[in-house]
Amino acid sequence: MEKEEFQKAFVLACRFLSDTIGCPKIYTEEEDIQGCTSDGENCEKEDQWECWQHYFLERVSTEEVCRICGCTQDNACPGGCWWIKEDLCSSCYEKLKSQSAS
Ligand SMILES: [Zn+2]
Ligand SMILES: [Zn+2]
Ligand SMILES: [Zn+2]
Repeated sequence: MEKEEFQKAFVLACRFLSDTIGCPKIYTEEEDIQGCTSDGENCEKEDQWECWQHYFLERVSTEEVCRICGCTQDNACPGGCWWIKEDLCSSCYEKLKSQSAS
């Protein structure tokens, strides 16, 4: 898949989340989201997809996330997984291996 398509998919997902949930503050413990005007209750920001973008970009810069499935240290794949590389988990590694073998 093209990088641009991934980027579009990312911003689309953020819009979807803002439409369905609202501001990420509602669902996350994140205290400090750039540009977010939430005081713990409602975010007054009109473009709440921006809150989601800041939230996710902040997360990938501060914690390890699998580049394929998006699992993290606190949210591993079903059955458990571990890091093969800093951005590749064992479940995805196994999948890649079996795909390239066939
Ligand atoms: Zn917000
Ligand atoms: Zn993975
Ligand atoms: Zn995983």
